[in-house]
Amino acid sequence: MQIAHCIGCGCHDYAACHDEATGGPCSWLAVDYAARVGVCSACPDELERWRQGDRELAVPVDLHGDHPR
Ligand SMILES: [Zn+2]
Ligand SMILES: [Zn+2]
Repeated sequence: MQIAHCIGCGCHDYAACHDEATGGPCSWLAVDYAARVGVCSACPDELERWRQGDRELAVPVDLHGDHPR
């Protein structure tokens, strides 16, 4: 399965962060599994630049470190 990292906080499908709005784990507001990035519900502010086509991660994330060798 592909995983995606949040461009705002770097969380991903196997390490959802805490969403204060719902009191539970975050979910995707927008996600692009082809690009392996998304915007999680804890980072609604990132949605604006996402809509403008910005897929840059704001935090350092090793996109290739999630697969067992
Ligand atoms: Zn996030
Ligand atoms: Zn998150």
